[in-house]
Amino acid sequence: MDYKNYVEIVEDWPKDGVQFKDITPLMNNGKAFKSATDEIVTFAREKEIDLVVGPEARGFIIGCPVSYAMEVGFAPVRKEGKLPRDVIKVDYGLEYGQNVLTIHQDAIQPGQRVLITDDLLATGGTIEATIKLVEQLGGIVVGCAFLVELSYLNGSAKLDGYDVLTLIHY
Ligand code: IMP
Repeated sequence: MDYKNYVEIVEDWPKDGVQFKDITPLMNNGKAFKSATDEIVTFAREKEIDLVVGPEARGFIIGCPVSYAMEVGFAPVRKEGKLPRDVIKVDYGLEYGQNVLTIHQDAIQPGQRVLITDDLLATGGTIEATIKLVEQLGGIVVGCAFLVELSYLNGSAKLDGYDVLTLIHY
């Protein structure tokens, strides 16, 4: 399937000079969303995952159907102040901004095989921070899956040594 047909490119959003890739049309199309999810599930099966971890908010949308299909849990990574119990946190830089990500301290058991999901890989800051959180809790990152990679931002340089699945490249 040519998933690019389901990505809308929005110029100068959320600020001037940024070319935002909007993947909501892909999610809005049942066949396209299922096909993309199935590809990630196949990858997850090969990796024999125990858990899916996704950063808010679109990482949830990609990760939860995979978690359901695999009958494994899902652990949310959220911005500071959003998770109600004890968390660990990490600072990171965004394509446009600065942020702190957190995860519940008891979200991952040491040795669990974790798949990280997000909609899009840009500079790699978000995935790098998410990997740090998973590994600090003793999880093993066995794969990272994205719908989209913006190759010109070179985020994959931060994923050296990790297995990565990306369905759409720009
Ligand atoms: P990174 O941390 O620079 O790799 O940025 C990736 C994060 O920012 C992901 O969680 C995305 O949801 C979001 N993001 C950055 N650029 C875009 C875009 O063009 N479309 C959709 N999400 C984006």
